[in-house]
Amino acid sequence: MPDNCLFCKIVRGEIPASKLYEDDEVLAFRDIAPQAPVHFLVIPKKHLSGPSAVTGEDERIVGKLMRIGNEIAVKEGVPHYRVVFNNGSQAGQTVFHLHMHILGGRNMAWPPG
Ligand code: C5P
Repeated sequence: MPDNCLFCKIVRGEIPASKLYEDDEVLAFRDIAPQAPVHFLVIPKKHLSGPSAVTGEDERIVGKLMRIGNEIAVKEGVPHYRVVFNNGSQAGQTVFHLHMHILGGRNMAWPPG
């Protein structure tokens, strides 16, 4: 795990996070700057810099992010939600460790900004 990756630091417990789920492969935590009444992130513990770094060997874990994210969203009372993966700075990616945003609890506009 890269020393200077913010989300690797959260995985290692070096930075606090409001955790919603954790197992040996996946961590979910509330976004520190929520953009909706419910906004959390689901990440693989394995360091991948973003969606474009996903390879065939990561396919199972990416599917798991979705399964776990849905289970948490339902528990949080937002069965209708938006899923966002940003890939690259122009798309709005600021943390270069793969993460799936789940946002719910308000009406969503389309197209997103
Ligand atoms: O997709 P993007 O890279 O922009 O998303 C990163 C997200 O990580 C932001 O929504 C930001 O609020 C969140 N974050 C966090 N905890 C941190 C640092 C960033 O939840 N300690």
